Amino acid sequence: MTGPESGMPFTAFHVVPVWPLYVRWPRHFDVLALTMGAILPDLEIVAVYPMTRDWEWGRTVMHSFLGVVTVNLVLSLLAARLLIPVVAERLDRRHPGKGWRRFAGRDYVTDRRSLPVAAVSAVLGGATHLAIDLTHHLDTPVLWPWRDRALHLVPWADDPLWNLTVNAAFGVIFAGLVLRWVGK
Ligand SMILES: [Zn+2]
Repeated sequence: MTGPESGMPFTAFHVVPVWPLYVRWPRHFDVLALTMGAILPDLEIVAVYPMTRDWEWGRTVMHSFLGVVTVNLVLSLLAARLLIPVVAERLDRRHPGKGWRRFAGRDYVTDRRSLPVAAVSAVLGGATHLAIDLTHHLDTPVLWPWRDRALHLVPWADDPLWNLTVNAAFGVIFAGLVLRWVGK
């Protein structure tokens, strides 16, 4: 499978398992680090696609445990600590009162956790990404670069009906979480 449909689940849906953790235990998680940790692994797919024209090809280091605790961790923390707060602050200044800095009743720009807590959040977010991908691709290279066989959690991982069903369910939950928490 080389079409974009094999890149399921849709990257944004990876926040579904991690956002409730922050809302339930806000002192123990950093919401931006969790979010970035959960979605950034797919960055490597986007980066490689223009060269390979193949949505599966790019899944290497950032879809591995090694990547989750190294490159993903660093990129997630940079995005969570620098990029997103700066963008949110600018948007909020330019278009005030639109909830740019709000998530689930908090201002996520000022409501940040210590670096160790943020790091754990980023790693946890990345781990959930790999876990979900293991159920949706016949090969997720979690042991990269020590890989000698394709790894997946369920034998029907690339079944189109399975992918479609789970994506539909995640899509509905995702929409519900966005409406309830984003900008609120
Ligand atoms: Zn992925």
